[in-house]
Amino acid sequence: MSELCYFEGKFMPVEECRIPVTDMLIQRGVGTFESIRIYNGRPFGLTPHLERFENSVKTAGINTSEIDIKKIETIIREGLARDDCPKEGMVKPYMTGGDINNPKGHFPKPRFFMIFAPVASAKTQDEIDNGIALLPNRMYRPNPLVKSINYLFGLIPLGQSDGSYFESVYVTPDGEFTEGMTSNFYLVQGNKIITAPVGKVLKGVTRGIVLTLARENGFEIEERCPRESELAKADEAFITGSIKEIVSVVRVGDTTIGNGKPSPIARKIQDLYTANRSRWLE
Ligand SMILES: *Cc1c(COP(=O)(O)O)cnc(C)c1O
Repeated sequence: MSELCYFEGKFMPVEECRIPVTDMLIQRGVGTFESIRIYNGRPFGLTPHLERFENSVKTAGINTSEIDIKKIETIIREGLARDDCPKEGMVKPYMTGGDINNPKGHFPKPRFFMIFAPVASAKTQDEIDNGIALLPNRMYRPNPLVKSINYLFGLIPLGQSDGSYFESVYVTPDGEFTEGMTSNFYLVQGNKIITAPVGKVLKGVTRGIVLTLARENGFEIEERCPRESELAKADEAFITGSIKEIVSVVRVGDTTIGNGKPSPIARKIQDLYTANRSRWLE
């Protein structure tokens, strides 16, 4: 099934959707978005995604009177009810800066559009069976609470690498891991799961659910940045995101994690996530 788009009050095939080259999304990289998983025609974690979207839009200086969470929810449900909309996939609402940047840093006439796309599988069988590698990226992601369309500075190190990495992971100059390029990052030591606090990283919807499930199932959670010096002795590492769910990390840069194979706790968390899916379907 192909992709469907919503723009200016209409649903259309994605190839027919056009935004002008004058949009600040193109001119200055001003834009925020969300990526929301759809299972069997129902959005997963819709409310926290839309709340985060509103917060990103506000922080970006985009005129919030142009955004109405309830209306977006209605359009998502209208889209999902259509025959030409993928029922296993994702919906991605975007808010751009629009054509006007006046006064500077204020975007009074943004554009809103939404893409409904199929997701066959967010990770390959090889990535599930063998885990993935992350490439350290020595910088902070600025304004971590904003889900920005701009992934350039996470992609640059990947483009200069040997191509063996699933994505890059931000690490501060003093050796603290914050988050992956498109994911939250976790280290596991014994029964303890360590992950950066919200504010230093995006408030991942998957992160919130994973921490809830982990607490319910007797894991200890430490909300602090995992340190580079802890990598070599960690039992496991994993990343999470709405589309990829939970993915085992077996290498970070040149450091092998644990025995270099996907390990039991990440798998257990993925199983819990799948088994509890209905709790967050809306
Ligand atoms: C999207 C994203 C995440 C994951 O958030 P989810 O809500 O779990 O999908 C984490 N960090 C960054 C930088 C992201 O863009």
